[in-house]
Amino acid sequence: MFWKLLDDLNFVARCKRYKLGLWQCPNFLFLVMGFLTIVSMFGAYFASKNFDDETVTVVSVTTVAVVIITIGSFIIRGVEEIAEAGVMKNEFISIVSHQLCGPLAAIKWNAEILENDKFSERLTSKQAIFLRNIKEANDKVLKLVNQLLEVNRIDEGRVIFKNENVDLGEIIDQVILELKDLISEREIEIKKRISPDLPPVFVDPTGIKTVVRNLVNNAIKYSRQKGKVEIDLKLWGRQMLLTVKDWGIGIPRYQHRKVFEKFFRSANEARYRTDGIGLGLYLAKAIVENLGGKLWFESEVGKGSTFYVSLPTTQKKSLT
Ligand code: ADP
Repeated sequence: MFWKLLDDLNFVARCKRYKLGLWQCPNFLFLVMGFLTIVSMFGAYFASKNFDDETVTVVSVTTVAVVIITIGSFIIRGVEEIAEAGVMKNEFISIVSHQLCGPLAAIKWNAEILENDKFSERLTSKQAIFLRNIKEANDKVLKLVNQLLEVNRIDEGRVIFKNENVDLGEIIDQVILELKDLISEREIEIKKRISPDLPPVFVDPTGIKTVVRNLVNNAIKYSRQKGKVEIDLKLWGRQMLLTVKDWGIGIPRYQHRKVFEKFFRSANEARYRTDGIGLGLYLAKAIVENLGGKLWFESEVGKGSTFYVSLPTTQKKSLT
């Protein structure tokens, strides 16, 4: 708490992080404005007490007001520059991701030809390993680029959710099947508990699958080798409640409020160097909220994390 307050007050470090000069930095300017407001109050008090001439008071108060308004306009400019930088960053990410898609797809396509065609017979075992490495590395980058594009689409409201009755239990099974290689590589025990006779949920099947995949994938990724992941599905009042629980590395409490931010990766995680760029939960939350549900979590370092998704079971019109 104390360190956080100190960090909030350390405006020089903040301005450096925003890459803004001191006189462009809203935090610093706000401090100056606060100081001037206090000085102006004392000044006005002093002027009205010591000078009978009202003009002196009016001129001093007006001068201070002009200075405060000028600083206010600098603050607005600083905030605008930060906002513009955010917009430019998003545009940059979008352009680069689009440009990368073509070449990456070409690499994937050519590697697949080499792997499947008659060429593969002519490859030495070492060449076959190199080819597999190229394909795996390319798939990883392609996955990241697709995630960036998906985030961009959702941010711009270009994703159309086509809701229909979905059996969530089936989606969970499909996700577990998709992640079977990771599950066996990390030797994770998956425990699935699905209440009988659950009604379907009225959601977009692709969207909800992305949510379940991201949560289960994280639970596996951030578990220790030979760990356990529990997936529960049950009715919770009029809502469907999906719970994904692990006993892995957990997330430090002071970082909880940042978990659903774009590009967040916990300090704790840095020690384990897992793959990822911190977009999975941001995307999951955006999708769940678009589907009329809620996503939240509990986590403790060293003890594990539990992520909850609640979804309405009542039929709804398609959200666009
Ligand atoms: P990433 O691709 O980095 O996993 P996410 O958005 O899915 O991105 O998650 C953001 C960060 O939240 C992760 O980098 C990790 O630090 C933390 N996190 C998410 N899920 C878990 C979990 N089940 N256990 C521990 N930390 C987690």
